[in-house]
Amino acid sequence: MSCAFCTDPAQTGAIVYEDADAWIILHEDRSPRGHAMIVAKTHAENPSQLDEDAWLHLSRLWHRAERALLALTNADRAIALKLGIATPHLHVHLYPVPASWTRADVFAAFDGNAVQDDGGLTDALRDALAAALRT
Ligand SMILES: [Zn+2]
Repeated sequence: MSCAFCTDPAQTGAIVYEDADAWIILHEDRSPRGHAMIVAKTHAENPSQLDEDAWLHLSRLWHRAERALLALTNADRAIALKLGIATPHLHVHLYPVPASWTRADVFAAFDGNAVQDDGGLTDALRDALAAALRT
């Protein structure tokens, strides 16, 4: 299986953070605005296949990214999704959503059907998120 993260992670969205072991990527689909991924650089299907320190590192990034995303999007809730169907490269999707969203709204977002096309706001979010994750 070809892997988008191994081939060219920038194809999957805007890389807003990178270190030796992980990326944080703002997903290109904007479903919804602020849809982001925490991505391990190593090939693993499941968190339990990472050693504990590697998982803790990813968890810390998840924590930081979630805080920044909620603040920057004014969302109430961060939905998390780990699939691994399109690529066997461990990553967790985060979806910042209002508390008013229903289960159907959230599953529409998973399917890419909750696009918030916002005329440049995504670029501003990308820059603000990258700045927040640098500090
Ligand atoms: Zn890969």
